[in-house]
Amino acid sequence: MAETALTALVTGASRGIGRAAAIHLASLGYTVGINYAGHKEEAESVCREIERQGGASVLMQGDVSCSSDVARIYQSVKEQWGHIDVLVNNAGITRDALLIRMKEEDWNTVIRTNLTGAFLMLQGASVLMMKQRHGCIVNITSVVGLTGNVGQVNYAAAKAGLIGMTKTAAKELAGRGIRVNAVAPGFIQTSMTQAIPDKIREGMISSIPMKHMGTPENVADAVCFLVSEQASYITGQVLQVDGGMVM
Ligand code: NAP
Repeated sequence: MAETALTALVTGASRGIGRAAAIHLASLGYTVGINYAGHKEEAESVCREIERQGGASVLMQGDVSCSSDVARIYQSVKEQWGHIDVLVNNAGITRDALLIRMKEEDWNTVIRTNLTGAFLMLQGASVLMMKQRHGCIVNITSVVGLTGNVGQVNYAAAKAGLIGMTKTAAKELAGRGIRVNAVAPGFIQTSMTQAIPDKIREGMISSIPMKHMGTPENVADAVCFLVSEQASYITGQVLQVDGGMVM
């Protein structure tokens, strides 16, 4: 098997931030694994866009919260690429409700996808990267993991957990040449934030010093910086991309 040059796996790459990160990494010469759980057509359109721009990608379907799916994804990484340079742990969902109304199922679903899923993907990548003695991992957390947020006890707990996971993994893996960082987006224009009612959206935007939402590309730029040579002495950090929303 001929080894692919530079490889990056992006979870939840069928739309939003993951899509932008995948397209951006492909433009830098990475062959990108486009992971998604359910929306195959959207994921295929990301592959087509990468191809249109002259890049290379591979669909890697799988639910990150399911350990057998994660094992299958890394089996295909090993078979198709032989190594992995970058993991972007981006897949995430919301199931919002006030604390006293939150159903245990919604708590579990968000923790399983946003935190356990990221852990399973991180663990799988670490095994390969430790053998290679190099690699970069970027976990997409959120500013609400730093501040908390009304109606998001499950989501904020998962995102805070990702920060602890990032710092721990950074300490454990630094000696093997692996850097682990997190990006904490603020309020970004994606399908996740589209459902927010206009009035609440306006209130949130007015609380941002830069007075506008961020784009998925703003977050992708931060991911690409953290995996670049320019960030070669940066590990265990949380880089906020939030227009000054939290400081
Ligand atoms: P989005 O538009 O809803 O996209 C979410 C992506 O995750 C989709 O590609 C979805 O793919 C995938 N996904 C969901 N569950 C999955 C699973 N179990 N296994 C694999 N893939 C799964 O969300 P986004 O706004 O781009 O958010 C991306 C990340 O940024 C999330 O972790 C989110 O928490 C974080 N973030 C977003 C914002 C924001 O303002 N948008 C702010 C802070 C942090 P399928 O639907 O095809 O499964």
